[in-house]
Amino acid sequence: MSTWYQESVSGVTSQLDSPIERGLAEDEAKRRFAQHGPNELVETGGRGPAKILLEQLSGAMVVLLMVAAGVSALLGEFTDSVVILVIVVLNAALGFVQDYRAEKALAALKKLAVPIVRVRRGGSVREVSARELVPGDMVLLEAGNYVPADCRLWESVNLKVQESALTGESEPVEKQVEALAGDDMPLGDRTNMAYMGTVVTYGHGQAVVTETGMETELGQIARSLQTVEAEPTPLQKRLAQLGRALAMIAIAIVALVFAMGVLRGENFQLMLMTAMSLAVAIVPEGLPAVATVTLAIGARRMFHRRALIRKLPAVETLGSVTVICSDKTGTLTENRMTVSVLDVAGHRLELSKDSRTSSPSTDSEDSDQASTMGRSSGQNASLALLLTGASLCNDAELDIDEKDQELRAIGDPTEGALAVAAARFGLHKDELSERMPRVAEVPFDSDRKRMTTVHRIESSSLEQDDGPVPSAMRSIVRMTSDHIAFTKGAVDAIVDACQQVWDGDELTSMTDDWRRRISRANEELAASGMRVLGVAMRPFDTAIEQESGGSPTSPTEDDEQNLIFIGMLGIIDPPRAEAAESVARCRLAGIRPVMITGDHPLTATHIARQLSIAEDGQVRTGQELEGTSGDELRRTVETTSVYARVAPKHKLQLVQALQDNGHVVAMTGDGVNDAPALKQAHIGVAMGITGTDVSKEASQMVLLDDNFSTIVNAVEEGRIVYDNIRKFVKYTMTSNAGEVWVMVLGPLMGMPLPLLPLQILWVNLVTDGLPGLALALEQAERNTMKRPPYPPKEHILGRGMGWDIAWIGLLMGVVSLAMGYWWWASGAAGEARWRTIVFTVLTLAQMGNAMALRSDRDSLFRIGIFSNRALIGAVALTFGLQLGVIYWAPLQGIFKTTGLTLLELISCIALSTIVFWAVEGQKLLFRSRDKAAGESGA
Ligand code: ADP
Ligand code: MG
Repeated sequence: MSTWYQESVSGVTSQLDSPIERGLAEDEAKRRFAQHGPNELVETGGRGPAKILLEQLSGAMVVLLMVAAGVSALLGEFTDSVVILVIVVLNAALGFVQDYRAEKALAALKKLAVPIVRVRRGGSVREVSARELVPGDMVLLEAGNYVPADCRLWESVNLKVQESALTGESEPVEKQVEALAGDDMPLGDRTNMAYMGTVVTYGHGQAVVTETGMETELGQIARSLQTVEAEPTPLQKRLAQLGRALAMIAIAIVALVFAMGVLRGENFQLMLMTAMSLAVAIVPEGLPAVATVTLAIGARRMFHRRALIRKLPAVETLGSVTVICSDKTGTLTENRMTVSVLDVAGHRLELSKDSRTSSPSTDSEDSDQASTMGRSSGQNASLALLLTGASLCNDAELDIDEKDQELRAIGDPTEGALAVAAARFGLHKDELSERMPRVAEVPFDSDRKRMTTVHRIESSSLEQDDGPVPSAMRSIVRMTSDHIAFTKGAVDAIVDACQQVWDGDELTSMTDDWRRRISRANEELAASGMRVLGVAMRPFDTAIEQESGGSPTSPTEDDEQNLIFIGMLGIIDPPRAEAAESVARCRLAGIRPVMITGDHPLTATHIARQLSIAEDGQVRTGQELEGTSGDELRRTVETTSVYARVAPKHKLQLVQALQDNGHVVAMTGDGVNDAPALKQAHIGVAMGITGTDVSKEASQMVLLDDNFSTIVNAVEEGRIVYDNIRKFVKYTMTSNAGEVWVMVLGPLMGMPLPLLPLQILWVNLVTDGLPGLALALEQAERNTMKRPPYPPKEHILGRGMGWDIAWIGLLMGVVSLAMGYWWWASGAAGEARWRTIVFTVLTLAQMGNAMALRSDRDSLFRIGIFSNRALIGAVALTFGLQLGVIYWAPLQGIFKTTGLTLLELISCIALSTIVFWAVEGQKLLFRSRDKAAGESGA
């Protein structure tokens, strides 16, 4: 039904049969879920099994093989064509399994990224996956949320929703709850509705879900345009390019081999088959597929280390990150905030260490602190006022933990700390709110760095009894009779808006003298690493709460003026235990950590020093950045690693300046306003716990634990992925080169065809597939995080790999031919025997190559022969299959092989290890060279 907007709230809720205060009962929600299905858009764009299979069967290689099978059949070689078809099937099966698993792994990651929604069910607020929403659910919306389904609003506190996903209009729309008249209103005008896929940019509200899933307006649109193709990642594109280049080279080589054979008078048909088989063998069709698998494996490993990858290219970009820009609060620090200092005019109170822990103080301390208040000097009245303001101008909720009776706060940790501190002095948020209910507010915003709430004073509640709450209220009532506004925020952002100071018993005007004293106190606290919040108030003698149909007129930023400064609170938030170590790891890995915070510069430098992010104490503020020209900014970002009093727009500036300097930048963010910077960064990193949906949507990676160290771990995994893809490329290309050399060198030395077509196809099938894949599971190199990042544009064959491929391939070709040539030349063996020898040495040499390539630097014996079980398994299987081909009569018939004597077999094995020893020897050489360089450098 699309006329929900015309109905009153009560009409809507009764139709949906859902009571506003309680929401749906849990079992009713279950019943509706069964009826309506999950709240998600049905995807038709993903690759299903059928599509993956089709892709496997339509590759150039398969076509080539099919042609080869056809040719064989025409020539009457029916065994050959059947074997080729079997090879096609095996190859396709292998590719299918790889691809399908990669696809499933990615789909699983995508599921994990579904937002969590707060709903009221059975009378209490619960967090559920957006998938589980049903019509009738009461959802709570706040700035930063994606609207999870279509819903009718019944509470709007300055709620603004950006609806461009549906209407194209980028200016946020103000929402309200009144019924609207008018038929066929356009979506953009339905101001009492919120639609799936739109974004809450401001304020908060509550709504009842009217439609879910494909029934939503977005679902209707989605029906018609569901063809999202996954873009290949840059690396995948480069590999595909490489593959195409190699294919061209392959054609040239194949033509050469073919021509040579025919000119020498080999059988034309045999040469045709050989050429086609060789083409199949050397076209590295598996490159992009293996990249996908390796990237997916990397994404899974990252997930196990608490980093959720939202976009696959992030996996490879992570390895090249050169700068990590991180929020301070909650990422480098614990986000376990505790108020430790209260400061009002002329009086400072340091809270005892024990009472700063998050548990409620013991009785004796409680009475200690209460008696501080009990002395009821003017200063203590100020302290009470400070805490009252801090507790009321606050969205956190307090809860007593059932288990350990500890006081806990739910919501923003900064606000939680304030509410807990006030409660410890007997000023409980619940009680305060009952006597001074909030009637309006201007929400917190990291640009203004402050927030305001307006409260009605229920003066009748003053008479009830005596205690900290009424005594705090009395101070307020001395100034105003019916309403009061509290503003809290960064001290510098508050002081400027204050004209007066609450000095114990009286109001005095804000002189320069006062300003100096306040800013000195602020700096003292900040310099010891505290986050400092100021609290101010403003009496309203005339009611701002004009009941206009239920919703109070809202105050605006303009009302944050003419304030009375009350005092400030210093909050400690210790650095995370593992943060300093992770910063050090970054340094070793050639990555510069940069700290960004909305806090005071002194707070920032204190924490930065503790973490060794900037020992030199250099810090820039957002304001300073604003006055900086492009060139200067680009210079600044090279040397300055700490940025304070930063607003989200400055983050964007910083990212761009760093990128201009050629850096690969990872940037964290949690708020709605951080989205542009997150999108701009190479790796946008959102916070899984405290981050908004919007920031997550804009990011490439989500930290499930909000922890800086997790970024560093993800970088390590990214480097492993890149290393492993390179190892696979090196392995396949040397193997292919080896095959080519065998086929080219043999005839040049006068031999007949060294390998038959089916033998070539076999080598290609068993060696490329499993051992290659197993290399994707290789662990980190010892120096993975002890070297600078590789440039992201580095050629995939760069850093000498091209040369390695050339010489190892040549060696492999020579080694494989050597013994077979000897047997052939001496006439000691028939054709089947010497070919079997060439065939066997080549297969085994590739196995040795795979083992030696496992590490770029360390010897196989150091990293452990058995430390990659999958590879050991693949090598053992390949070896077994090879024995089968040599000794099992039916396969002998097909592959034209013959049983080798034990001595011959042992000789083949021994000979094949030459490649292994050569690669190990090269690594030994490099190690001793590095060591010598290290010693002379030291
Ligand atoms: P950060 O990125 O370091 O978390 P924020 O932008 O969240 O910084 O906060 C910047 C400043 O805004 C803080 O130093 C503090 O003074 C103030 N502030 C933070 N949270 C609140 C809040 N809930 N209410 C009022 N002021 C706040
Ligand atoms: Mg913050």
